[in-house]
Amino acid sequence: MLIDNQSLKILLVEDNLADATLIEDLLGSFSDCLFRLKTVKSLEIALACLEAEKFDAILLDLSVSDCLGGSEAIAILKARSPTVPIVVLTDINDEQTALSVLRSGAQDCLVKGRFQRTLLVRAIHYAIERHRIEEQLRQQALRERLLGKMIENIRSSIDAASILQSTVAEVRQFLKTDRVLIYRCQNGASKFDGEEQKGAIVAGDGLPEGYIENQNINAALAVSCFFLVESQAVQAIADVRAAELAGSFQQLLADCEIAAVLSVPIWQSGDWETANERLESSVWEAEKTTDAAENYMSLPTVGKPQPQGSSATDFRSENGNNLWGMMTAYNCSGVREWQQWEIDFLQHLANQVAIAIEQSQLYRQLAIANQKLQQLATTDGLTDIANRRQFDRVLMLEWRRLAREELPLSLIMFDIDFFKPYNDFYGHLGGDDCLRQVARAIASFVKRAGDLAARYGGEEFGVLLPNTSAAGANVVARKICDGIARLKLPHARSSIGPYVTLSCGIATVIPAAEASPDTLIRSADGALYQAKNEGKNRICHATINSESSSLTALGL
Ligand code: GH3
Ligand code: MG
Ligand code: MG
Repeated sequence: MLIDNQSLKILLVEDNLADATLIEDLLGSFSDCLFRLKTVKSLEIALACLEAEKFDAILLDLSVSDCLGGSEAIAILKARSPTVPIVVLTDINDEQTALSVLRSGAQDCLVKGRFQRTLLVRAIHYAIERHRIEEQLRQQALRERLLGKMIENIRSSIDAASILQSTVAEVRQFLKTDRVLIYRCQNGASKFDGEEQKGAIVAGDGLPEGYIENQNINAALAVSCFFLVESQAVQAIADVRAAELAGSFQQLLADCEIAAVLSVPIWQSGDWETANERLESSVWEAEKTTDAAENYMSLPTVGKPQPQGSSATDFRSENGNNLWGMMTAYNCSGVREWQQWEIDFLQHLANQVAIAIEQSQLYRQLAIANQKLQQLATTDGLTDIANRRQFDRVLMLEWRRLAREELPLSLIMFDIDFFKPYNDFYGHLGGDDCLRQVARAIASFVKRAGDLAARYGGEEFGVLLPNTSAAGANVVARKICDGIARLKLPHARSSIGPYVTLSCGIATVIPAAEASPDTLIRSADGALYQAKNEGKNRICHATINSESSSLTALGL
């Protein structure tokens, strides 16, 4: 695009009077474009001029006395005024010289005495235009590099709050604006009525809160954000006072001393919602409890339209995406014509933020789901203490650890006395309830780090006590049996007494790495069998090396 009918200010660096006059004549006569020429005789004066005034282009004669080598003169001028294009005038009609000055950063090279007015005028116009395009490309490359860096920052974090905060800070710096906010919608809220809370500002950068006297700017901005949210579209308001806006919205912005606004929507894809629901259901299907549902995510799902009557605001777009919120830049220092690249930049970043938020939410959910699954895999559904699987896992770990450390491992096996008749009398549900109470009582006496109380199977429980001697295990078993006795759980079909009792078998061993932990289980089981045989409601000890024969019954 050539600049027509416009006055261009040209700095001519030329020490030859005849040449200078010639150029002045050429540019002065018959031109569509008015050239205002300033002629100086040395590079030094040219630099001083560039410091004091603005020029559209420089015509540089490379033979001026202080021009050193041509390339250096161009470099010096470029360093002083990088935005002013240079057209070189030279006496040397040589391709090499022309190439060398172009490589040094000049836009064109003309050989003196070889050009007419038209050629000179065109060279100046082309130089300006070429330089403008080069500058645009340079700016674009710079923006893309910065955008890339910002996206990298966004992606490198999985913490939603820090992503949002660093984004607004960087956007504000990059757009050189006064305030940048991210507002999060609350779905299903009724339209603005001056009272209701519609959402919240979740990240902001610039202008300290309350910079307007007696007014909390954030609260006012949060209300104003609802107008932006309602539009569900890019809003580029160059001049708040002159724009056609809803009266109260315009007033709110004016009250906050905002002159210009650029706002873009943050959309979340429908895919995310589906994935979210699938994950949610798979976890909660596995366990039919909903108690932790409220804590499922710190950032709960939004965007699902809720039937709230005709006044409800639906933030779901036609393509099934949900409006998560808006990212908004505010200019307070003056009106601002937002450039297309600024709008594109903000929208691009908002899309990245949406992806990052989705990832962060999914990651959180996944972590919670994993935790939940881990818990499901290790916990007994009826009694809520460790299950057999967890018992076996811990037993194996402790067996190996204590084999290395040559320390004792004790195992107590408990079995409820006369539990078959209990079930027959109280019913299966009554039996389940008894199992829960016994499990709770056992777990309450197993307190040391590393100790484990587990439901071994049916109405049998196992307690693992690492680094605990037989005497220590006996103390624990005693406490548990006494604890159960104190509970006085009625048992109308026990031959021992009116309450539920336990029989216990204890085995203690310093594990041998080459042996199997099954030997410990067999021994404790043998001791339990002995306790049952000897009349139940008692504790028996096994000695590991002679499992079946020399059981030490400590009895009650
Ligand atoms: P003993 O005094 O010798 O231990 O005899 P017992 O009647 O307790 O017999 P045993 O230890 O063999 O009892 C196992 C019974 O435990 C079988 C079953 O009725 C009951 N049982 C096992 N698992 C459950 C369960 O999950 N819920 C209920 N309610 N009962 C269970
Ligand atoms: Mg049993
Ligand atoms: Mg039993």
